[in-house]
Amino acid sequence: MIRITIEVSSRHVHLNRVTWTELFGRRSSLHRQRAISQTGQFAARETVTLIGPRRRIPGVRIVGPLRKSNQVELSATDARFLGCLPPLRDSGDLRGAAPIVIAGPRGRRRVSAAIIQRRHIHASPADCRRYRLRPGTTVRVKIHGPRALLFDRVYVKVDPSFVWALHLDTDEANAARTATGDVAEVFR
Ligand SMILES: [Zn+2]
Repeated sequence: MIRITIEVSSRHVHLNRVTWTELFGRRSSLHRQRAISQTGQFAARETVTLIGPRRRIPGVRIVGPLRKSNQVELSATDARFLGCLPPLRDSGDLRGAAPIVIAGPRGRRRVSAAIIQRRHIHASPADCRRYRLRPGTTVRVKIHGPRALLFDRVYVKVDPSFVWALHLDTDEANAARTATGDVAEVFR
């Protein structure tokens, strides 16, 4: 049995320098609140408000450090609430990303950056060898428990810096009644 720890990602944003400056001002800087599991990333103390065609969501966490591109990661439930229709994408693939307004204490900016992230596994090349997984393919993952659920088409993302973990969004986690720290089973 191949075991993997579940990590549930709530809605969050990645910002580039231009957007950060527009929202928070030239002299501000991003403050680290806590490390998140994949190497080098952190949840920032600062949050933004997302403004969609229908409604807004305040208190959305920024994940740092700043990046080349803005990226707004939503669940399908968040998207429906906001009134936007983001495509299902891997992180960094912003083709057809939905427009949304991001607001901070000093300003706001409309960006075409909203996606729903495809569920995925983070693996190192060593994990791939150990479990005989091929980078870029998909596997199935079973969540055990009272709302047991078999997720098909779980994408295998590989990088030497990655820590073995399954990433689900809040809709997927709620559907299976699971949470960060639970253990799931991978089927090749
Ligand atoms: Zn991930």
